[in-house]
Amino acid sequence: MSYSPYVLKGQVALVTGGSSGIGEGAARCLAQAGAAVVINYHSDRAAAEQIVRDIISEGGAELAEGMPRAIAIGANVAKEEEVKAMFAQTIATFGTIDILVNNAGIQQDAAFVDMTLAQWNLVMNVNLTGQFLCAREAVKEFLRRGVKPDISCAAGKIICMSSVHQVIPWAGHVNYATSKGGLEMLMKSMAQELAPQKIRINSIAPGAIETQINTAAWSTPEMKAKLLQLIPAGRVGMPEDIGKAVVWLASDDSDYVNGTTLFVDGGMTLYPGFTKGG
Ligand code: NAD
Repeated sequence: MSYSPYVLKGQVALVTGGSSGIGEGAARCLAQAGAAVVINYHSDRAAAEQIVRDIISEGGAELAEGMPRAIAIGANVAKEEEVKAMFAQTIATFGTIDILVNNAGIQQDAAFVDMTLAQWNLVMNVNLTGQFLCAREAVKEFLRRGVKPDISCAAGKIICMSSVHQVIPWAGHVNYATSKGGLEMLMKSMAQELAPQKIRINSIAPGAIETQINTAAWSTPEMKAKLLQLIPAGRVGMPEDIGKAVVWLASDDSDYVNGTTLFVDGGMTLYPGFTKGG
């Protein structure tokens, strides 16, 4: 058995919320694995375009004639028409799409009694409805194209960015934890329905990863020490920790993995209070 350095050669991947944090890490890892990458951004066009330039200048796997190595597309994943336009532009540019990383997500934190309907709806619209809208467009294209055995033994792969909070309740963040809990069932039901068409859908549940979404939790030594008490591995995760898992779930190396959640959390879900025997 041998591993190709370009396990995703010839494939096209779209990463939502790809201009920062975990999405950026995933986009860079996918490109290093040989995929052409669409970096979706919401507001930070300059950051997305910088990542595109970096990916192009790094070079890598040979691409089909005239195919760009990376492009940036702005879209709000919670808006149906913007999502449709993003997929139309992707397919017009690359001919198809093979991998969707449904990564865009937000927090709008508040104590339960103070949480406004606007805070609740915004988190549901981005974290859950946004994943539904993007997955639906990707699946339409996967079904239209079907399997191309020289590219992948799947008709398409979707990786949903969940969180350890799909299983760990989170006081002060009920909208966020509920969106990730709901995402688990969205992912599993899609995987069950679409497996006969050779479409694989899985989630990654990150633990604490150093990104802008949770700066407050790791940016001072005091906060970091408190956070580390929750992580048996003894370190905060980095976007590449998630990017490497994305590449594996997107590749044929994980062909028999479908409808599951891969926890990439340094053991955060292992009841850390019991690390020294409880
Ligand atoms: P981040 O804030 O850097 O990334 C979130 C990205 O989503 C940003 O690029 C943002 O612009 C984009 N986004 C927000 N609203 C959008 C919209 N309506 N349309 C398109 N894009 C939109 O934070 P991150 O930590 O990289 O988060 C990425 C994903 O990982 C999220 O789904 C988050 O819930 C999940 N996650 C993060 C952690 C962590 O510790 N950082 C842990 C568990 C899960």
